[in-house]
Amino acid sequence: MEGSTFSELNWKNSFLLGTPGDDEIGGVPRQVPGACWSRVHPTNVPDPKLRLWSNEVGELLGLQRGDAQILGGNMVVEGMDPYAQRYGGHQFGNWANQLGDGRAITLGEVTAGDKILELQLKGPGRTPYSRFADGKAVLRSSIREFLCSEAMHHLGVPTTRALSLVTTGENVVRDVMYNGNPAPEAGAIVCRVAQSFIRFGSFQIHAMNGDKATLEQLVDHTIQQHFPKHSMSDDASLIAWLNQIATETAVMIAHWMRVGFVHGVMNTDNMSIHGLTIDYGPYGWIEDYNPNWTPNTTDARTGRYRFGQQAQIGAWNLARLLESISPLMEDPERLYECLETYYTAYEEQNNAFWADKLGLDEFQDEDETLVTQLTSNLQLVETDMTIFFRLLSTMEKPDVDHLQFAFYDSENIPTDEWNTWLASWWKRVGGKPNHAVMKKTNPKYVLRNWMAQLAIDAAEKEDYSIAVELLELMKTPYDEHENHEEKWFQKRPEWARHRVGCSMLSCSS
Ligand code: AMP
Ligand code: MG
Repeated sequence: MEGSTFSELNWKNSFLLGTPGDDEIGGVPRQVPGACWSRVHPTNVPDPKLRLWSNEVGELLGLQRGDAQILGGNMVVEGMDPYAQRYGGHQFGNWANQLGDGRAITLGEVTAGDKILELQLKGPGRTPYSRFADGKAVLRSSIREFLCSEAMHHLGVPTTRALSLVTTGENVVRDVMYNGNPAPEAGAIVCRVAQSFIRFGSFQIHAMNGDKATLEQLVDHTIQQHFPKHSMSDDASLIAWLNQIATETAVMIAHWMRVGFVHGVMNTDNMSIHGLTIDYGPYGWIEDYNPNWTPNTTDARTGRYRFGQQAQIGAWNLARLLESISPLMEDPERLYECLETYYTAYEEQNNAFWADKLGLDEFQDEDETLVTQLTSNLQLVETDMTIFFRLLSTMEKPDVDHLQFAFYDSENIPTDEWNTWLASWWKRVGGKPNHAVMKKTNPKYVLRNWMAQLAIDAAEKEDYSIAVELLELMKTPYDEHENHEEKWFQKRPEWARHRVGCSMLSCSS
């Protein structure tokens, strides 16, 4: 078999060496002031079975198909030094103080080419940061995280990756909709991979508790290890570093808007310092184009994290990160520049994506009207976002008939409004929209909520074939797949409209 075994990998533990940690190993959930991490051992599970494996992430690490004992947390090999990270966060706008890796344990870091990648188990049992919970994860949410990480990567959206999914052979009790109906579910563990899992909240926890010394060490480590072009030697250097984070965060969110992804829980503890989509929980994909939609039922009333508000929330979260770096600045007022950077980067990237989505040569100021009219038309009747843009990408003449499949009710298509819009678009592109660019920008396939749910329903009966099929399909989401029957190029089926797991999700995982 090609590739190394886990023990043959080149393990590093720079985070443990570079930042202050907890003196105690493991232990009960508690406050751990002054620490960035606590060493902790994954909890043993009865019967770990490897169910899903990403060949590409395996290759990235130079790893052969993995060992369920290790990926299920039963075995730690030499070189690994497992720990849980300590961080805080604003949850739904409120400061929650210490959160931390309550159900995640990092095994260690591995050098892979010119990169260092961290391997982290999600769901391997209790840590000092588990608060009142068990530190475990269920199959349902693990399948969602595994498939979506890989789908996002192939869609070109910055994301943490997923290496494996292991079932643990034990049941975990969850109350899926938080409505007093707890039930046992299959337990599972995903191994996820990223440069690091450092979050905005990793810095906030120290700043909010007035611990400047630890904050300084964490910033120093983060810059040295992950942003070597930068330094923390003065205000200008810190600003340059934060500008990079601001830009990468803005670009990530512009991508979410391009493909119709709603994160669902953009708390500051779920914001990666690398501008990666992280912590797949009650996320969802827009089906009918509705900027007010959120998949997260916990957020249904206020819609704080709804589709159309993600860019603003990104700015709010960035402001919290900037505040937490301010103790290290001589002139904290200068941090406003990074918010400007964020807004400019978002606007530029978002406009560039609109130009590509519509096959324009470049985005001009006047195109704003075209986009506004388009997004308001999309909301006149239930219209599938993905199908709409994909069909637009193959339009040969400006005629709404070509888009018919995108509408839920074929009897009720706003023909006049669309033909008016199509005429102005056609004029703008001089009758020659750039179809090639459009097809690379408007995916044919996304991981619709009901598609993931079908994979989950099968997996719960020990059938992983749909999960594997979707993993394969989502490797080339911009291709036509002409020989394929069109079963995944479909609007949401009626059964999924109000089904838990499809239109309604919670943080229970
Ligand atoms: P989230 O917003 O879902 O990423 O999680 C918020 C916080 O709750 C994080 O600190 C998680 O580690 C923690 N958490 C969520 N689920 C569990 C669980 N099953 N056991 C322990 N901690 C958890
Ligand atoms: Mg989280």
